[in-house]
Amino acid sequence: MAYLDGIKSIRDLPIENKRVFLRVDFNVPMKDGQITDDARIREALPTIKNALERGVRLIIASHLGRPKKGPDPDLSLAPCGERLAELLNLDVKMPEDCVGDAAKKVVFDLRDGQICLLENLRFHSAEEKDDEAFARQLKAFADVYVDDAFGAVHRAHASVHALPMLFEERGCGFLLEKEIDALGKLVTAPEKPYIAVLGGAKVSDKIDVVEALLSKVNALVIGGAMANTFLAAKGNAMGKSKIEGDKLALARSILDKARDAKVDVLLPVDVVVAESLDAASGKVVDASAVPDDMMALDIGPKTVELFSKRFSGAKTVFWNGPMGLFERKSFSSGTFGVARALADCGAFVVVGGGDSAAAVNAAGDDIKSKMGHVSTGGGASLELIEGKKLPGIEVLRMGEPS
Ligand code: ADP
Ligand code: MG
Repeated sequence: MAYLDGIKSIRDLPIENKRVFLRVDFNVPMKDGQITDDARIREALPTIKNALERGVRLIIASHLGRPKKGPDPDLSLAPCGERLAELLNLDVKMPEDCVGDAAKKVVFDLRDGQICLLENLRFHSAEEKDDEAFARQLKAFADVYVDDAFGAVHRAHASVHALPMLFEERGCGFLLEKEIDALGKLVTAPEKPYIAVLGGAKVSDKIDVVEALLSKVNALVIGGAMANTFLAAKGNAMGKSKIEGDKLALARSILDKARDAKVDVLLPVDVVVAESLDAASGKVVDASAVPDDMMALDIGPKTVELFSKRFSGAKTVFWNGPMGLFERKSFSSGTFGVARALADCGAFVVVGGGDSAAAVNAAGDDIKSKMGHVSTGGGASLELIEGKKLPGIEVLRMGEPS
């Protein structure tokens, strides 16, 4: 069974000259009203262009940020609409709301091949409540529903859950299709040996995914601040390192479960330490010899070698979480070393997580291009890997869900 079974691609939906509701993820990072990274807009272009080439009247919708109460001008999608217009070299109409008279006027005036971008869905609290009446208002705009918002499918919100249920014709765009296909392979039939490489800020963020992976993988490779907690749980004094003191028992129980499940757990044998997060440089010490007044900010070179050896022969790898404070050059060797080793190991490597994806981008094109898939969704990619059914994906399946 493939994870995509029962889900139609935009390729196979009869959208020609129809009105299409396209849910995208334009939840872009913004600073002072400016988009700081437009990757999410660019990633939606293949689907948008395909629809336009097929004469569609396209109604695009997204959320942006977390508006507290109703409309918030700082969280308007207008900058995204302007950016999209530039990228397509086309006029993008932008009603001042996503429903109501303003939206209706714009939507029903569209002609074939024209686009509008509705205002932030979350300006209505009904969106996060998965409200059916709100969904019905959106439904009135279109004949076909296409979801390309991978970053939003783990939430049962109206635009990705109540709404698609109202459409006879519904399916996924190219971006969502690629995500479901790549991540789905790790859930349904990962080729063994399957290794999970975990790192990042906290164990507590990732407990569910670690526990779920224990029954699937042959080895767990742990670095980053997450490894500090595991090393502490094994009795290492970690100095001033970031550790989660209240998660030591949990880390021990994960290690016990791994042993029972015959899953190898690889932890750092050396680390790069410094006095503080702002230190200009660090020094390599044994993982059992972190000085009291220092903190571990990266994995050391012996650890990179140890991890790299374990990757060779792997067929499938899931990587989430940087190996250190990679945003700082002095503490980036571990993360980039692991990225290089994964790129070269020959396995199908899937990278998930916002900071992990940023690390792979920063590692350069020759590394990125050798990864099997770099996911655009943080929370959604982890939940999918855990084997959870994601509401926004399941609702797209036609016929009997399997
Ligand atoms: P992702 O977004 O890929 O899921 P996380 O959000 O869990 O990853 O963690 C990423 C952050 O963890 C990065 O900003 C990185 O600097 C930080 N980090 C990783 N290792 C350490 C460490 N040893 N000490 C301090 N911060 C760390
Ligand atoms: Mg993160």
